[in-house]
Amino acid sequence: MLIGGLQKFSLLDYEGFISAIVFTQGCNLKCRFCYNPMLVWPSGFQSKASQFKQKDHCPKIKESDLFEFLKSRAGKLDAVVITGGEPTIQPDLPRFTAKIKKLGYLVKLDTNGTNPEMLNYLINPAPFLKPRCKRTGHSKRCGVAKKLIDYIAMDIKGSQVKYKKITGSAVNFNKIKKSVKIIIESKLPHEFRTTIIPGLTTQADMREIGKIIEGADKWFLQKIKTDIDLIDNKLKKIKPISDKELKEMQKIGSKYVKKCKTR
Ligand code: SF4
Repeated sequence: MLIGGLQKFSLLDYEGFISAIVFTQGCNLKCRFCYNPMLVWPSGFQSKASQFKQKDHCPKIKESDLFEFLKSRAGKLDAVVITGGEPTIQPDLPRFTAKIKKLGYLVKLDTNGTNPEMLNYLINPAPFLKPRCKRTGHSKRCGVAKKLIDYIAMDIKGSQVKYKKITGSAVNFNKIKKSVKIIIESKLPHEFRTTIIPGLTTQADMREIGKIIEGADKWFLQKIKTDIDLIDNKLKKIKPISDKELKEMQKIGSKYVKKCKTR
């Protein structure tokens, strides 16, 4: 795994649990509002040469060092949050999550939803793992037949027509919809998240997104951050929507999901 950073302690990122946050390196999107450009642009990967400054993150770390840390925190931390960048672009994510779960941690995955095949594998690895043990029915290869993740948080960036403009990338929207379906049908605790960008996230967009994630557990809405380095720093000049406007968006969102909250 390419690991771009580690936050050793968080009470906020996995509700109800004390977690460590692993930041994976690299992303297949270039969201204009992204405030982790050092994990997205290759120029940000080498911390010393980096033009970016992010005090809360450790420099790039080795997987062996991360696991030494996780072993030393067993019993003190409950969970590991794997975020990015985009974790699902790394082919060895299943091996990595299995290794974390073997230490007894819960795993929360943050994803942009562009890789439904990987999500499917993480949620239901058993059918993919062969040969199986005749006695237990589990894979002989790694002995894991359970879900490799315990909670999923997926970004849904906007309505279909705005996706390219918001993410700076040609996204296959069918894959986004497929990921939504996989997550909702998995019965795992989950949330969807949307950053509200003035001019790019309208009430009509909210209704369109709502229809796609209808029936989901939670939908979190957040204002764009403008006080930090973004992929598109022109957006720093934008005035985030007011609290009142955010509440109106929340009211629309509440019609489609079990809980629509603001952050
Ligand atoms: S916000 Fe967009 S660009 Fe940034 S890490 Fe997430 S998916 Fe990638």
